[in-house]
Order: sequence, then C-alpha cells, then structure tokens
Amino acid sequence: MLARERYPTAKYGSVTPPNAKPHNPAGMLIGAHVSPAGGLPKAIERGVQRGCRAIQIFNQSPRMWKASAYRDEDVAAFSEAMAASPIDAVLIHAVYLVNCASEDPDIREKSLTSLVNSLRAGSQIGACGVVLHPGSAKAGAAPEAISRAGQTIREALSESEGCPLHLENTAGAGGTLGRSLAELAALLDSSGGDDRLGLCLDSCHLFASGYDIRSVEGVSEAVSEVAAKVGLGRVRALHFNDSQAPLGSNRDRHANVGAGELGQEGCAAFLSAPEFDELPCVLETPGEKRSGASAEEVKLAVTLRERGIAARVS
Ligand SMILES: [Zn+2]
Ligand SMILES: [Zn+2]
Repeated sequence: MLARERYPTAKYGSVTPPNAKPHNPAGMLIGAHVSPAGGLPKAIERGVQRGCRAIQIFNQSPRMWKASAYRDEDVAAFSEAMAASPIDAVLIHAVYLVNCASEDPDIREKSLTSLVNSLRAGSQIGACGVVLHPGSAKAGAAPEAISRAGQTIREALSESEGCPLHLENTAGAGGTLGRSLAELAALLDSSGGDDRLGLCLDSCHLFASGYDIRSVEGVSEAVSEVAAKVGLGRVRALHFNDSQAPLGSNRDRHANVGAGELGQEGCAAFLSAPEFDELPCVLETPGEKRSGASAEEVKLAVTLRERGIAARVS
C-alpha cells in the first residue's frame, strides 16, 4: 500500500539527472500534520476531513520523553481506516526533544531510545518515513556535532528495521544542524549514507535559511543544488509552510499558505517543481484558528500547485 515507486535512490553525492517523467499534476500527495488524539484511526479521520492525501503525526507527545508503543488492535484499525481512505502516505515526526548531536551522554541516550521508538512505530503503521530534526550543536562546533549526530543516527538505524528516516532541513536558528544542503550532505555522510536515509525539505526552513524559493528560477536553483549535493533521490518528503520571517532570517516561523513571505505566487512556484511530483507534502501551518491546516488550506495548496504547473507550461 505504501510501497510507492520512487526515484531510484541516488548514490550519495552524485548528480541525479532531472526527473525525465512528464509532469504529473495529480502526483503530489498534499496533506497536513494531524493529531492522533483519541486513537490512531482518528488521525486518518482528521486527514480525510481535511482532504489530505498524506498525513503526518507525532508517535508520542512531542515534548515528553515517555515512549508509547502502539497496540496491535490500534495498528489494525489504523491500517483499515487508511486503506479505505484517499490517504496514501503517513509520516511520523520524531519528538522535538531529540538531539542526536547532544554533548550530554544522557540526552544522547534518551534521543537514541526515542528515535528508535519512532522508527519502530513507523514500521508498525507502515509509515513512509520518520522525520527528524538532525540535532543542535548548541554553542559547540558544527563538524563535531555532525559526527555525534551521525553516530546516534547510525545506531538508531541499526536498532530498527525498514522504516526510512528523513532528515529535515532547518531554518538555521542557534546551533541547529541542517541549515544548508552542504550541511545536510555532511549529515547524510556521517550517518553512513544508508538507503533508508533521505531528506524532508521544509519550504519555510529553506526560505529562512537563505534559499529564495519565491520564483520558478529560485526553486530551480535550489533543486539543482539538491541534485548536486545530495542527489534528488534523497528527497523523500516535503513540509510545506509559508514563512512569517524574511529570507535568510534563520527564524522558524510558519505562516499559513500564501499568507507569509512566500505569498501565493511563491507557494505556486515551489509546489509545482516537477522534481517534487509524487512526494508526500505535509502542511504544518498554524491555521486560521491556530489548530493546524484546515480543509480550505489544503485545498488552497492543491490549487496553487495546479496554478504553478499551468504557469510553467504556458
Ligand atoms: Zn517542518
Ligand atoms: Zn519549522
């Protein structure tokens, strides 16, 4: 059900040829981050209500270490609900507390346990990946932090099976790792370059970290850099958020689709990149009522993508 045809996994660091397939307007799996409160199948219900084709959930409270494993009956009910829905992909977001690069052995141990738990939960529910903020160097040097993060990630992969792990690019605040494609490439490298490793590109974070993705040309430039530094095959998921903070501000402030610095035109340019066809693309916006993306906002993203595609072919 979730085994989707992907681009062949690029060899790490190689330049992948641009997507040769014709543009597939129906391809991108646009959806939203939703709550699984009340039980796992509720996440599917909320996704369906919002017109999602992909959802993202936290596998446990995002601000607590306490791990929880899914019960078999919940997993079965979730899979049944998903099979009967238009939702084709589910992502798990790892807990915010996780810092694979921490210098504190206790935090690193807890991070490893939590990440392994998320990967196992992902395998249980057939997730197409666990999304992870790669870590923070805090006040320390980035290269050492990258090698610590890589070590923790390698261990997490070896203690779990199957479920892919998507490193997310960051806005670049403080010592956060993953603010540039070069840094993401270094992280993939220090994590061992396993086939299970991919990237989740967040549009707001790209913009805040200095990639001007407000035009087709700007998006193409960023995509070329992805191809050159990590290979397009490594991009396995998208987070789609507009940005409240300006270009290069290194501030992570999500705005509702079309209502931030990207604007509707910028959103259309990013969403219509042919290289992103068929990826799960999840909104993590505050929403009109601060309760996350609504059905209207998911619909707006779909519409903007169609508008962007039309503008590219005209
Ligand atoms: Zn994100
Ligand atoms: Zn963010």
